[in-house]
Amino acid sequence: MLNSYVGRFAPSPTGPLHFGSLLAAVASYLQAKKNQGKWLVRIEDLDPPREIQGSASGILKQLEQHGLAWDDSVVYQSDQIDQYHDVLQSLRLKNLVYNCTCTRQRISELSGIYDGKCSQKNLSTIDASCRFSINRGMQAIGHNCDKLGFTDSVMGEFHQLLNSDVGDFVVLRRDGLISYQLAVVVDDYHQGITEIVRGFDLLDSTPRQILLQKCLNYPTPNYLHIPLALNSLGQKLSKQHFAKALSVGHESEQLWLALDWLKQNPPIELRQSSTGEILTWATAHWDLSSIPPLEIGIAAPANL
Ligand SMILES: [Zn+2]
Repeated sequence: MLNSYVGRFAPSPTGPLHFGSLLAAVASYLQAKKNQGKWLVRIEDLDPPREIQGSASGILKQLEQHGLAWDDSVVYQSDQIDQYHDVLQSLRLKNLVYNCTCTRQRISELSGIYDGKCSQKNLSTIDASCRFSINRGMQAIGHNCDKLGFTDSVMGEFHQLLNSDVGDFVVLRRDGLISYQLAVVVDDYHQGITEIVRGFDLLDSTPRQILLQKCLNYPTPNYLHIPLALNSLGQKLSKQHFAKALSVGHESEQLWLALDWLKQNPPIELRQSSTGEILTWATAHWDLSSIPPLEIGIAAPANL
């Protein structure tokens, strides 16, 4: 088992790291180090309109300032586009995807859960998105229903009825961009990721990603979703809700607060230590079972 563990942190370059993203970075880092494994960083830069110039290098600098040193070279999704299209082509050849020309208005009338209207139409790719067919995918892996689940190492059992909970999902957007769901599955496979540690908001993407993995004959990694950090209004700390960037010069304090939030009980005197000392303590004392499986989230420290 030694050194077979590969974990990762995969931020989008849509702004600087905030306390919520630091929690995912710290938890994935410690889980990898506790297992004598590698911790990889991947920049999820597949959506240029949402990106903010300079934030990828800014995020890497923030990780370094917190002592979170990654293994191997950083992978950029924007360098992997040909690979995603090759995989998409293999899904087309297996007849697991179809083109869809439904309008955005029609999709929103369906509350985002697609009803498969275009699945039998054999539409051309022109002005179309490409969707993954849940029924054909489940059939391909020998399931005769659309129920798929997994056991999360923090949150426990989770399953979905994919047709009614999610619907046939987009793998290639109408604007030609590869979807998050497809890219993340291809990247995790090529980077050899054995366990995915990330925020609770991605829990409900996981069955879709597992279905894609099975259809592509990729192994399914372990999953571990941590609760979300909430702001004073009870909203997820996020760029959309104007979460504050982590501040320079307060890295030890921020690391300590992240460990405290993750219920690792860091000793108070550790608060003044260097980031290296804090991470050494945290790796030695990392206890996954202390993270509360709270789906409603946990309040962030007041000034973060
Ligand atoms: Zn359609």
